[in-house]
Amino acid sequence: MPDTSRHISGSQAEQSAIKAPSPIFEPNLSDQFGRKITYLRLSVTDRCDLRCTYCMAEKMTFLPKADVLSLEEIFTLAQAFIQRGVRRIRLTGGEPLVRKNILWLLKKIGNEVKAGHLDEVTLTTNGTQLPHMAADIYAAGVRRVNVSLDTLDARKFEGITRRSKLETVLDGIQAAKAAGLSVKINTVAMRGKNEAELPSLFQWAINNELDMTLIETMPLGETDQRREADYLPLSAVLPKLEDIHTLTPTPEGTGGPARYFTVEGSKQKLGIITPLSNNFCDGCNRVRVTCTGRIYMCLGQDDHVDLRQALRSSEPAAGLRKCLDKAMGHKPRGHNFSMSNGKMVGELQRHMSQTGG
Ligand code: SAM
Ligand code: SF4
Repeated sequence: MPDTSRHISGSQAEQSAIKAPSPIFEPNLSDQFGRKITYLRLSVTDRCDLRCTYCMAEKMTFLPKADVLSLEEIFTLAQAFIQRGVRRIRLTGGEPLVRKNILWLLKKIGNEVKAGHLDEVTLTTNGTQLPHMAADIYAAGVRRVNVSLDTLDARKFEGITRRSKLETVLDGIQAAKAAGLSVKINTVAMRGKNEAELPSLFQWAINNELDMTLIETMPLGETDQRREADYLPLSAVLPKLEDIHTLTPTPEGTGGPARYFTVEGSKQKLGIITPLSNNFCDGCNRVRVTCTGRIYMCLGQDDHVDLRQALRSSEPAAGLRKCLDKAMGHKPRGHNFSMSNGKMVGELQRHMSQTGG
């Protein structure tokens, strides 16, 4: 069994200090509403080995590889954010674990955690690569992963993801736990697709000591499907979970769009993300950077600032500083997603897989 403690031994810390020289800290990022930006979601690829119906079309046009930042460039960006007060970084995509040499980047950012420059590095993954990567991910310094899973039924899984990889994902979740990673399940609630299964899926998560977050589907990108047909407000799901469990809201938050509940008799937590029926943007502490180096200040808005030019200029530090200050001035109060007369409002052409979920 690997050592699951968070303690870093003296020699490890010394090694990390050598590998991760102290950054020169600069004024922290803070937006026009006074919200401190301490959390970065960093997309490392727009590619994926699944084709979830709410996320992608079957035939996706992916970005030309030449447009995608190198891993070294992504690490330079991560450092620039750390210098500006970001304390948590989540790698995402597309599927982050299909990016070649991703472990190199995880180790580099993991060293920033070991050196105390960052509180944590985490991942959002579909789980298909976890069976063979979980132990290396832990060794790189990751302690928590979010795994997306919408159903435990193999036929439905294939219907939702257009691939038959349920067993691999379940093996991946077990491999992650065995490696010492704490796992949270992300589940998109879909009317008529996994709606009836949500109480048993939640029970499965509890039985397997997994936290779970339910998400309402958002109108991001063209996917060959009518979005409204899938939409299931979580206000219709919670009472069904409450028939079985005593859920108590907790004030705990991550500065994100989720609200959390404790579950009586269990150590697990339930999270809900309700962008359409009830948004929680007020305390937003995050920004997202795409694999081409665009910073989006809000998942649900199109406004962005291009960091790639600055990154590739002769004075990247000064250029990035300017770009990040500009981005802060443009971070909106919140997104515009909502439902109106049975129609989704606030639709964007950009796919979730491009921005990084
Ligand atoms: N491939 C990884 C995964 O699936 O976990 C990471 C990227 S994926 C875009 C991140 C999260 O976004 C997943 O939990 C997925 O279920 C969610 N997602 C994708 N498209 C969505 C949409 N249109 N509405 C709501 N959630 C979405
Ligand atoms: Fe791939 Fe994740 Fe999008 Fe599913 S949600 S298609 S796994 S990027």
